[in-house]
Amino acid sequence: MLKWSFKVGSIFRIPIKVHVTFFILLAFVALMGENVYRSLFGVLFVILIFICVIFHELAHSLVARYYGHGVKSITLLPIGGMAQMDDIPEDSKEEILISLAGPLMSVAIAGLLLILVYLLKIPIVPLDNTTLFEGNILLNLFWINIILAVFNIIPAFPMDGGRVLRGVLNLFMSHLKATRIAVFIGQFFAVLLFFFGVFYDKNLWMALIAIFIYLGAEAEDRMWAIRHALSDVLVKEVVLKNYLWLNTGDTLKAASELFLHTLQGDFPVLFGDRLVGILRRESIIRGINEGRESERVADLMERDYLMTTEKQKLIGLYRIMTEKGISMMPVMDGEKLLGIITLEQIGRYHMISAAKGTD
Ligand SMILES: [Zn+2]
Repeated sequence: MLKWSFKVGSIFRIPIKVHVTFFILLAFVALMGENVYRSLFGVLFVILIFICVIFHELAHSLVARYYGHGVKSITLLPIGGMAQMDDIPEDSKEEILISLAGPLMSVAIAGLLLILVYLLKIPIVPLDNTTLFEGNILLNLFWINIILAVFNIIPAFPMDGGRVLRGVLNLFMSHLKATRIAVFIGQFFAVLLFFFGVFYDKNLWMALIAIFIYLGAEAEDRMWAIRHALSDVLVKEVVLKNYLWLNTGDTLKAASELFLHTLQGDFPVLFGDRLVGILRRESIIRGINEGRESERVADLMERDYLMTTEKQKLIGLYRIMTEKGISMMPVMDGEKLLGIITLEQIGRYHMISAAKGTD
């Protein structure tokens, strides 16, 4: 989903990216305004809202950085912002403070805007649905920041409030248990919000947001369950030693036969007994599509790939593989190929450990 994001600049050395759908939203707003003035007003308003969202995310990011957690980027999506961190803080105090920083920033911006509104003697009226294209932009932004703060502090994953809740629970119990309870409360909220949106308020947005919260909580739960099951496990315990490989001189046709008639999708490519590349399923399919069946595997393989060893921790590897979308990685002992590890295999390990009830 985040693939289609474009860097628009950086603040405090944190790259700011904008997802392509955000530009579509801007175009949509421009088209919705009935005249040039209203269109420009709407576009400016949406851009200002997203600058406020950047400040909100920046607050999270800077507190996270203060505690030594790297921040990769801030991405803007039409549904809001997202700060991507290198790791997830496991310390409760850090998690609580990082999560609170965003809503506090939104409150601070709202406060500043309220002072401006007051000084400029702008009458304070409630926000209604015409305000995307008209009204006083400062007052509208004030309301937006209030909504940002209130909405984010809902104690439901993946909102900031959900993280604060987990952080607080984590002071009294294990991380996994705290996550479970926070996820349960979050999903309970999501269901309430959904029915409120659909039946009482007849507000489709609210129902959509409820679904978003529900799924977000679900994903958080699954991630922690896997993290918990994989913690302290080494690659050694999951490495696949019974694997197939290709030689550099094999043809793509031979590779596609293996791909079709075995369960393996990605293959190490050897020259003699030395690993020199990886032929991934995407390359096999692309090669066939381009009619290169008689070409050598060496011409289609990936030469630049990540490797691991048996002594690596599975949890770190799992994160790298899911983040970078790598389905298979060679497991090495020095120069020697020991075996391979696949996401599928890690998933199976998790299934077994969950079945044993260690989770
Ligand atoms: Zn936030």
